[in-house]
Amino acid sequence: MNRIEEMRESHARSRAFFASGMTRSPAWRIEQLAKLGRAIEAREETLIEALRKDLGKPMAEAYLSEIGWVLNDIRHAIRHVKRWSRPRRCPSPPAIWPARSLLVPEPAGVVLILAPWNYPFQLLLSPCVAAMAAGNAVWLKPSELTPSVSHAMAALLRDTFSSDYLAVWEGERETAEALLSLRFDHIFFTGSTAVGRRVMAAAAQFPTPTTLELGGKSPCIVLADADLRVAARRIAWGKFMNAGQTCVAPDYVLVERSARDELVAELRKAVRSFYGAEPLRCPHYGQLVNAAHAERLRALTDGQKVAFGGLADPETCRLEPTVLLDPAWDSPVMQEEIFGPVLPVLGFDDINAVLHEVNRRPTPLALYLFTRRREMQERILRETVSGGMAINDTIVQIFGHALPFGGVGESGMGVYHGKAGFDTFTRYRPVVTRGFRPDFAFRYPPVRLPARLLKLISRRFMG
Ligand code: NAD
Repeated sequence: MNRIEEMRESHARSRAFFASGMTRSPAWRIEQLAKLGRAIEAREETLIEALRKDLGKPMAEAYLSEIGWVLNDIRHAIRHVKRWSRPRRCPSPPAIWPARSLLVPEPAGVVLILAPWNYPFQLLLSPCVAAMAAGNAVWLKPSELTPSVSHAMAALLRDTFSSDYLAVWEGERETAEALLSLRFDHIFFTGSTAVGRRVMAAAAQFPTPTTLELGGKSPCIVLADADLRVAARRIAWGKFMNAGQTCVAPDYVLVERSARDELVAELRKAVRSFYGAEPLRCPHYGQLVNAAHAERLRALTDGQKVAFGGLADPETCRLEPTVLLDPAWDSPVMQEEIFGPVLPVLGFDDINAVLHEVNRRPTPLALYLFTRRREMQERILRETVSGGMAINDTIVQIFGHALPFGGVGESGMGVYHGKAGFDTFTRYRPVVTRGFRPDFAFRYPPVRLPARLLKLISRRFMG
């Protein structure tokens, strides 16, 4: 049997499993989520080692942003899944009284999740937890660029669940394309905007509802009144964790010119205090995913003025935290998503010109602003668009379960995290139930009510 035949056969089994109705029970879903949690806890060390091998992730980062993150998602889903799955009573318009109107949450069906390599565990399993909580059969495709994590996750899921319920397909782009030739009930893709477009085109053939969690250049605006030391520490933290390979990392900084030099000095101090004088040797500093990515980043710094950093170690695939000064808006580093530890810092004189530049570019996944001034916080919130925003910090808008996470425009569509993730993988089915009496004759044609009465009924009883 070739791969695509194997996929078709497995797909039919997942469909049959879903149709059996097993996943409809919230109690069964809770059991599966708990099973997943236990399996992750039992293999914590293997997973941490795989994350270290593929991305040089320090233990703290591996736990807080990957393993612990997913365990929190599981706990949250277990706590709430019964309530989320309950049909919700809604008011019925008087014209149909007596009636019972319900909104019934139903699982989408068999869903596909495609994940990138930068947070290879979190970005595959966090949407998976949401899909399981919502009662779906789930197909998963991890990134091929982090093979140790991909194998460890595939082994964990295969040892814990039947592939009729949770199927993992490891492989390269061809595997993803073959998967997309099958019909799913929802596709959840995290990755680049270019591939996201292809995924959506493939989804259009059925058509399949699609969530796209994409990337882009997230700006960070710093006004001169900000606490520049704290701003620099929070920017450096958000930018250089996972060696800059974070979709919501601040991509570049726009700082009021009078504060530029002080901010750069504080960034240098922050980097030194986080990673020491030789970040390339620091065990708390991550590595780049592969040599091609390292070369792409090095090329982005070509011809630019380097404030600090810039050294690379091809052996360990590392690049120092690197700050560039005032690159031109049309240079490659200001055109493509950086997705690495290179931070352009541009001084500006006029906030209007900055907002104009930001707004004429593709809508970012995140926007960061550092200022104490309330009116500027409100103005910049009002005059820009982005997937999410943090004021006086970076990345924190995606923490926790209360706020939905997702992009807008070229940075994506659809959201997840907490209840928003459950909703993404749920179809809310409106159901109205009535009895046979009363059965008023005036609704049936030919309707002979005078126009004034018709309008009155429409206004009072139909809305
Ligand atoms: P990518 O788009 O290259 O790959 C993502 C996934 O798509 C992988 O599993 C890959 O195998 C698969 N894929 C590759 N080619 C495909 C094709 N032609 N058809 C279907 N699937 C295909 O992304 P990446 O390099 O792994 O990740 C980096 C990008 O992801 C960055 O742009 C980053 O901003 C973005 N990202 C976004 C988020 C978010 O939550 N919004 C999170 C992390 C990363």
